[in-house]
Amino acid sequence: MANTFTVLKTDAEICTRIQELAAEISAKYQYVTEENPLLVLCTLRGAVFFAADLIRALTVPAEIDFIKVHSYVGTRPMGSPIFDLGEHIAVKDRHVLVVEDIVDTGQTMATVMQNFADKGAESIQICTMLDKPSRRLETCKNVVPAFIGFTIPDLFVVGWGLDYNDKYRLLPDIMEYHPDSEES
Ligand code: 5GP
Ligand code: MG
Repeated sequence: MANTFTVLKTDAEICTRIQELAAEISAKYQYVTEENPLLVLCTLRGAVFFAADLIRALTVPAEIDFIKVHSYVGTRPMGSPIFDLGEHIAVKDRHVLVVEDIVDTGQTMATVMQNFADKGAESIQICTMLDKPSRRLETCKNVVPAFIGFTIPDLFVVGWGLDYNDKYRLLPDIMEYHPDSEES
């Protein structure tokens, strides 16, 4: 059986939605200043294209930095995310917007938010390109992204930064993906 891909969101739909999200975020963060700009933390590697387009469309002062998270092998969560939470990033008293590709069980974002809360961030919100709320763990029900590109059902998706074992990140559309067999 061959691998199958089904288009879920086209590049054009995603680009339009990013502009809308940037307007929503800019409206929400009117109060940030050049002295204390919005700190956009992009999760590597999946959210890199999303964050790059999003931050350039903001109309409020913003800075970008990066954290590394990885919690999927094949189409299954590994359980415990691996983090490089960027210990060098000073978040104390900052308004932090974590930009994620997709929120699934919520474990990754729960850990990230706890970490930055512990480090004294003034505020922490999540902006995610995709949300799969039906997959949220009971223990992660408090993970509610403030900004969501698209809410989707329980599907495994690739493209627009999202990978399957490091493949398919560069696909221009977001596709539902059915591997013919799990390689992991
Ligand atoms: P969570 O910790 O919320 O379960 O997982 C979040 C991470 O798992 C995402 O940042 C993403 O890297 C990965 N992930 C979750 N669902 C999908 C999916 O449908 N496709 C891909 N490619 N990665 C996913
Ligand atoms: Mg991710």
